[in-house]
This record gives sequence, structure tokens and C-alpha cells, in this order.
Amino acid sequence: MGNIPRLKRGEKLLIATHNAGKLAEFRELFSPLGIVLISAKDLGLPEPEETGTTFVENARLKAHAAAKAANMVALADDSGLCVDALDGEPGVYTADWAATPNGRDYQMAMRRVEDRLQAIGANSPGLRKGSFNATLCLAHPDGLDDLYVGQVNGTMVWPPRGDKGFGFDPIFMPDGFDITFGEMPSSAKHSWAPGQIGLSHRARAFAKFVEGAIEQS
Ligand code: IMP
Repeated sequence: MGNIPRLKRGEKLLIATHNAGKLAEFRELFSPLGIVLISAKDLGLPEPEETGTTFVENARLKAHAAAKAANMVALADDSGLCVDALDGEPGVYTADWAATPNGRDYQMAMRRVEDRLQAIGANSPGLRKGSFNATLCLAHPDGLDDLYVGQVNGTMVWPPRGDKGFGFDPIFMPDGFDITFGEMPSSAKHSWAPGQIGLSHRARAFAKFVEGAIEQS
């Protein structure tokens, strides 16, 4: 049982993100639940600086900032790619690896991961393992929160494959599949349904969120 009263059909929820890719995934994940989503970008809320050093710290920071600013219950996602042979990098700093003076460049960011793997001779699939991780924080304006975590393991491939999804999806092949997230329809990447755990890190965290935070009808 979470700290925050369960959300009911028809209730509004603020999604504390300015990332269009994440927001699109949340809209799809939430579509069967009848919760009315509003994004931080729609409300023109400022994007807080992600000063935490863990996914939990950053998810909390974003969720509480949005919940306080809008006086609404808010859900934030902090996520990233952790490559085993790179000691878990880029990890919490995944978004920063794509930063350029003109916005985010994921082709460059994927190339950075590959260059680092090449530099240590990580050529065989066994040396290119890693995971996508997502921490969801549901925050109430009164300061309470609940956390839900999801992870999916996989292998980094090169060159990037597919034009679906967002971010680092084209270089991530989840275990048990021979296509990348970039080649999968979004329905397969999420593949979440009540009672199932889902495939992606976000879908897996979301499945726990639904169990803990949504009024079961
Ligand atoms: P943050 O949570 O705002 O710090 O950003 C996380 C970053 O991780 C995103 O900007 C993406 O680059 C990457 N990321 C997180 N989830 C995914 C995903 O599902 N696919 C591809 N990249 C992701």
C-alpha cells in the first residue's frame, strides 16, 4: 500500500516531463486506465535541474517540483542506459551524453557509447551487456511520495537499427529478442497489460505503479 491515495478513473495526473518521447510512451501506457494526463510542458512549468546522483533522487526531485508548482499529484520518470563494461555509464547522466549547444543529438550520443566500447575492445555480444532502468516517483503536493522501479537487460548493437522509439532505442536489443527497441512497434516495447510485467524498463515500472497506485475497479 502506497503513501498516496489511489488514483481513480477520471482523475487528473500531472506527468512531470518535458521529454516528448517519454510523454508519448506514458500516454500509451495510461490509455486503458481512464486517468486524464497533463504534462509539465503543457502547463509551462520550468524544468528543474537534475542535480541528484541516483535515479531515485532525480525522479523525486522532478516529481516534487512539479507537484508543488501545480498543486497536483505528479508522476516523474528518471531513466537511463547502464552499460556494464563502462561501469554503469552513462547511467544517471544518459540525457547529458546527448547534450549539444543546439539541443539533444542521439546519433552522437549512441556513437559516444560505441566509441567507449571500441576503446576497451568490447566487440563480442557478451562484453556489450547492459540495462535500461526507470524509476517512477508519484509525488503529492503535501510532500509524500511513492517509488516504482523497472529494469530490462540487453545488448548494445552497432550500427543503430530502426527508427522507432526515442533516445538510445536503436542500439539496445533486449534479452530474448533479435531486434532493437528502435525496430519494435511501441506496443511491443511497452507490451504491458494488467497482470503482465511488460518488456521495457518503463513498462515494468509502470506495471508496479498500476498495482500500487491505481484504484482497481
Ligand atoms: P532523464 O530521465 O530525463 O534523465 O533522461 C533519461 C534519458 O535516458 C533520455 O533522455 C533518453 O536518452 C534515455 N532513455 C530513457 N528511457 C529510454 C528509452 O525507453 N529508450 C531510449 N532511451 C531512453
